[in-house]
Amino acid sequence: MPKFKVVIDYSKCSRCGLCVRICPTSVFEMEDVVRVVREENCLACLACEILCPKKIITITPIIEKSKLIDERYGTLKLP
Ligand code: SF4
Ligand code: SF4
Repeated sequence: MPKFKVVIDYSKCSRCGLCVRICPTSVFEMEDVVRVVREENCLACLACEILCPKKIITITPIIEKSKLIDERYGTLKLP
């Protein structure tokens, strides 16, 4: 079950392949066009969203933000 939605505005994609090369978890693949093939692997590192030259990739959490924070950081005890 994916934790993040990975959306590309395909109409503006230049097919440069940068997202395929930089994603650490192989979320994208390039054939004739770039595709989101392993959305469940997305860690929301945001490298693709920030570095896509066309700024057409959007990463949004699917699960509740509070659950995401619990998963990543556990229960933080603040002073
Ligand atoms: S980095 Fe952006 S423009 Fe390049 S292939 Fe990926 S989605 Fe398309
Ligand atoms: S946010 Fe990171 S892990 Fe997720 S698709 Fe983009 S580069 Fe891959």
